[in-house]
Amino acid sequence: MKVSVIIPCYNEEEVLPLSHKRFSQVMGSTAHDYELIFVNDGSKDHTEELLLGFANDDPHTKVISFSRNFGHQNAVSAGLHNCTGDIAVIIDVDLQDPPEVIPQMIDTYLKEGSNVVYAVRNKREGETFMKKFTAKIYYRMLNSLSDYTFPVDTGDFRLIDRKVLDAFKQFPEKHKYLRGLFSWMGFKQTPFYYTRNERAAGRTKYSIRKMFSLASAGIFGFSKKPLK
Ligand code: UDP
Ligand code: MG
Repeated sequence: MKVSVIIPCYNEEEVLPLSHKRFSQVMGSTAHDYELIFVNDGSKDHTEELLLGFANDDPHTKVISFSRNFGHQNAVSAGLHNCTGDIAVIIDVDLQDPPEVIPQMIDTYLKEGSNVVYAVRNKREGETFMKKFTAKIYYRMLNSLSDYTFPVDTGDFRLIDRKVLDAFKQFPEKHKYLRGLFSWMGFKQTPFYYTRNERAAGRTKYSIRKMFSLASAGIFGFSKKPLK
């Protein structure tokens, strides 16, 4: 079985050397073939240079580079459209979601025969009160506006199989809310509980404007109530 790991990166030169090492160690320790797809989302620092260096030395590393910053959701989508694995794992580059749990997620996928294993945060280390508070209010609001109930404490960190990948590739919309879309799509979905860590290096790349854009994609994409 081949595993594609999709890793979006925007101005991540500080964390990249450590991340590449951790992702390579973890995936190299499994019995599966793998590819690490780093998507450089129009970074202005040395992210692209670093990534091309890794790809040069390591046949498992692949790089997609955007001409400008198109946003996290588009970076992940590009990785999903271009991966070749039997399964794909979406994960941030900053090590907040520990790569070490990927083998456990694969075990859960194999044991449960699920199509999606979505990671649920049972603890959020190092996140501000404001971030946790706004997240709580937002997901409560989204669930009350939407006809569909989304799992809480769940971001984009998840494993999806080829069946779900192929279905995903048929969605043409540009302003995507991926965590909502994958949850709404159906198939057999299994939660996987884990502890979210602090960012290993660098600072958040999600500005307030980007957070609003993501939040609005969720509400406009999954609720008819504001329109009515
Ligand atoms: N990211 C991206 N494009 C952007 C903003 C962020 O590709 O425009 C990536 C970033 O490099 C990271 C992931 O998306 O891998 C999540 O961003 P971040 O960790 O900064 O968000 P936070 O965890 O603070 O919400
Ligand atoms: Mg982060």
